[in-house]
Amino acid sequence: MAFIIAEPCIGTCDTSCVEVCPVDCIHGTMPVDEIKEHQAAGNKEAFASIQLFIDPDICIDCGACEPECPVEAIFEEDDTPAEWESYIQLNADFFE
Ligand code: SF4
Ligand code: SF4
Repeated sequence: MAFIIAEPCIGTCDTSCVEVCPVDCIHGTMPVDEIKEHQAAGNKEAFASIQLFIDPDICIDCGACEPECPVEAIFEEDDTPAEWESYIQLNADFFE
């Protein structure tokens, strides 16, 4: 079991979840440090299509990330809303 990140992260991508994850299992197509630089510069266009994903093989299911997300994009796998169930596989596929 793991937590997953769904569609609402896209374009928000504020990296709050990364800060609290004890096992560093949250990553995206753009390095987190680069996202933070764009955030600090107010350059929202740079990560407009970017989202982060959770590595299901490393996530320890602690739940620390879930309440940190300002757009409620993080779900425990079994509680993922039906409309975003495809994101369970998308999170796993990102780390293949
Ligand atoms: S549930 Fe815990 S281990 Fe898994 S991604 Fe969130 S903070 Fe990291
Ligand atoms: S806290 Fe939410 S919006 Fe921010 S990067 Fe994590 S999943 Fe995406």
